[in-house]
Amino acid sequence: MTTLNPPPAVLTIAKILEDKGHETWCVGGAVRDAMLGEQHLDWDFATAATPDQVRKIFRRTVPVGIEFGTVGVLDEHNVMHEVTTFRRDVQTDGRHAVVEFGASLDEDLARRDFTINAVAYSPTRNVVHDPFHGEKDLRAGIVRAVGDPQDRMREDRLRALRAIRFAARYGFVIEKKTWAAIVDSAPHMSRLSPERVRQEIEKTMDQVPCPSGAFANWRDSGAFATLVPDLVGVTDIQLRAIDHLRRPLLPTRPQRRLLRIAMLLAAVPAGRSGNAMKALRFSNAAASWITSLLDSLAGLEPSMRTALAASHGATDADIRRWVSVAGRTRFASVLRLADARWWAEREAGEKAPGDAAVASLHRRALRIAYRDPVELSDLAVDGTDLQKLGLSGPALGKALHDLLEAVVRDPTLNTPDRLMALVKGRSATGTGA
Ligand code: ATP
Ligand code: MG
Repeated sequence: MTTLNPPPAVLTIAKILEDKGHETWCVGGAVRDAMLGEQHLDWDFATAATPDQVRKIFRRTVPVGIEFGTVGVLDEHNVMHEVTTFRRDVQTDGRHAVVEFGASLDEDLARRDFTINAVAYSPTRNVVHDPFHGEKDLRAGIVRAVGDPQDRMREDRLRALRAIRFAARYGFVIEKKTWAAIVDSAPHMSRLSPERVRQEIEKTMDQVPCPSGAFANWRDSGAFATLVPDLVGVTDIQLRAIDHLRRPLLPTRPQRRLLRIAMLLAAVPAGRSGNAMKALRFSNAAASWITSLLDSLAGLEPSMRTALAASHGATDADIRRWVSVAGRTRFASVLRLADARWWAEREAGEKAPGDAAVASLHRRALRIAYRDPVELSDLAVDGTDLQKLGLSGPALGKALHDLLEAVVRDPTLNTPDRLMALVKGRSATGTGA
């Protein structure tokens, strides 16, 4: 057995509890990841001490989930460690469990979802307690339910989605009977709250290097049919596009998460992604950002594809128009989505714009977006100027948009004199744009 090397604060907390006579173990994700040789920031404890005892023993605690027996203990660096009293499930309804304290370590491990998550480790004695052979499954790369898979999934339908996430996160296979129980769970997933489902999608986007495999399993198990019916027909190419969002530049984590979700929702039939996000309780801010990206993507992707395929490539005027439609700050994200999709298409042997062409478009678009007029506020005249010509209401709005269209075609027109002359000329002839 190799030492799992928990941080010193973990050792200290376990020792304090044990000195007071309370059996204490590290459990869950940190033990699993340490065995895989990976760092995990959150070392959680399971202990025989009751929540009240834990709060008396440590000076600085946070009642993070007292009803489930969880007390947060702050270490000297103000890092919080969750300390949870051994517990057993007494009642489950497929959504959440009601728990009871006074259980043994083995009972506590038995209520955990997968063998790889049910390994206990004593940091003070450097001993592993592994009644469900989680370490063996970790070495073999298997996600396997603790106990009877059908029972475990029936107790909590979220476990099916968690199994899929852990398998994709580590490149593991899902054990046969566990997979069968996931498939059998799918029709019952409507019991899950939309918030929990959305969080599973977000965790998958955050934790899984290549999320396409996870969502292929959502599709193939029937989870999408129950949870996001608009995605039942999502293709492998559409899913692979999510993996390719890694390139060419890695955005920050929240950006990456939102872009990945946008790429997944790009597979929803036109005009329905807003409904899908509403059903999953995405925030209005996230939903409106994603909707505007997807609208721009749907509107621009065909012309970008055609221009990039042509021998002369895209003209500056083409690029100004695209940036103008998407918005200066959003165009790079739209291009990133298109690029990821094209990458997935090329990978599948289909014809799509090449890497070099996209990289060059990206560079040119950046330069053009910050040099040329592409938005209404870039125009050399504004609404007040046009009011002086007697324009108002919708006619004024239309005149401004016509001017923008004109300067996007030819930026040299963007001077007050030339724009005013354009408006006068148009209202004189009455022809509009
Ligand atoms: P992560 O790295 O995503 O935090 P984790 O394994 O720590 O992985 P958590 O969701 O933080 O996952 O849960 C901590 C532990 O609690 C799990 O390892 C597992 O033992 C147990 N657990 C969590 N959710 C469930 C569940 N729905 N059913 C049974 N056990 C669960
Ligand atoms: Mg965790």
